[in-house]
Amino acid sequence: MSDAGATGAGMSDAGVTAVGMIGAIADDLTGATDVAAAFRSAGLRVALFFGGVDAAASMSGLDAVVVGLKTRTAPVADAVAQSVAAARALTALGCTQLYVKYCSTFDSQPTGNIGPIVDAIVAEVGSTTAAGTAAIIAAAGTDPRLEPNARGADAGTVVFAPTTPAQGRTVYQGHLFVGDVLLSDSPMRDHPLTPMTDANLLRLLRPQTTHGVGLADHAAVRAGADAVARRLADLRAQGADYVVVDALDGHDLDTVARAVRDARVVTGAAGLAAALGRARAAASFLPADDTDARLASHGTAAVLAGSCSARTREQIARWHGPALLLDPIALPDGDALAHDALAWYQRARVDGVPLIFSSAEPAGLRRVQDALGADRAAEIVERALGLIAVGLVRHGVDRLVVAGGETSGAVVHALGVTGGLVGAEAAPGVPWIFADAPAPVALLLKSGNYGDPDLLVRAAGAGAAGATGMAEASGATGAAGAPGAPGGAS
Ligand code: ADP
Repeated sequence: MSDAGATGAGMSDAGVTAVGMIGAIADDLTGATDVAAAFRSAGLRVALFFGGVDAAASMSGLDAVVVGLKTRTAPVADAVAQSVAAARALTALGCTQLYVKYCSTFDSQPTGNIGPIVDAIVAEVGSTTAAGTAAIIAAAGTDPRLEPNARGADAGTVVFAPTTPAQGRTVYQGHLFVGDVLLSDSPMRDHPLTPMTDANLLRLLRPQTTHGVGLADHAAVRAGADAVARRLADLRAQGADYVVVDALDGHDLDTVARAVRDARVVTGAAGLAAALGRARAAASFLPADDTDARLASHGTAAVLAGSCSARTREQIARWHGPALLLDPIALPDGDALAHDALAWYQRARVDGVPLIFSSAEPAGLRRVQDALGADRAAEIVERALGLIAVGLVRHGVDRLVVAGGETSGAVVHALGVTGGLVGAEAAPGVPWIFADAPAPVALLLKSGNYGDPDLLVRAAGAGAAGATGMAEASGATGAAGAPGAPGGAS
């Protein structure tokens, strides 16, 4: 048998079957974007949904549907219920494989949420009735770690492979490395919510699941997809249907992906998602992708920035078009800030693509937070930027670049956008998203620290804009702040 035709426990013959859609469930929005970009870069046609699958937004001709939840640190029962609901919705859309995406640093605790989420999805895949699913959700309230395959059905072997070479995350002998140090020696050991003080993935996973956990080591992976499939089958015969898989690079991930190409449930981070995408793209006929041509037709751009991260401030410093700084101290009212900003936009748009930002350097941020309280300040700014996005789209903006994770969430929520078709990446992990409803808009949602210094200028198509250079301040004439020049002590 050839590598490409590898079969394994619970897997169909990868060599001959037509491949179905992948449905990916990510435990946060940025993770969903990463996976969507990974699938897209492999050549798949991908839709991305925020917060839940919108069955109404039916899109045809897709290879993958990705849904971003917010379950990484949610209470276990809530995380399980949301994930099972997403799994059901994705299956209803026609997904034949579910990809559970977690952070490449395996962010979790002994109580979850990775193990309980996968256990519940495995039980859901094994379940054939709506009543079975209702039972899962009901059980999640008391004991989310359900018995595997409680109804006698079989979801097959599930691999756990967080390796993501682009981020320096690799797995060897079941140990997760961050760059050249073990996970437990990386800054993740001091994470406020999910401190990772052990690098052994088997030890991390075992307390989180009722399933048996084994290891497919690097020797098996180096020996090829058939060897991996055989190792999975051997481990399964020994009672381990959850298998941590070693992988050091993209080649190893490709081997793993070939072995599990048709598995019902696969888990990992962006690295394995990209490899699965490559394995599927190689095996299916994909229609030509028109998303890049689509971007060209979205010509009325604006940029909103609510991230205060160093990289976003660097990107703002490169801005040469009209720019407006929102000052929540001078005007601590989201609606009023938005009103003023939209009035400014009407005047400024004639001079080029406008940037509206609240991003402050650390000292400025502290001043705002001391004056208003951190939560209230964030609330005011997020409300303002959400309302501004709505106003901009009403004024005809159809290409919106947004900097900041929470800020992106606030903007898509205010716009009422539930998801869209995933286009090319403007920077690694930052793809364009084309939403059709409620209005056609191309969105670039970037986490604060993502992207090269010229990303905002480039994505807005603002490179040749008139160099008016001066940012104004919205709020009051005496507004403090260093508009557009966010250097300072960071
Ligand atoms: P990142 O991706 O860099 O973490 P986020 O958008 O997730 O960016 O988070 C930035 C947070 O800071 C948001 O909640 C935003 O509303 C808030 N914020 C932005 N500008 C200011 C400001 N000038 N003062 C206080 N809070 C701010």
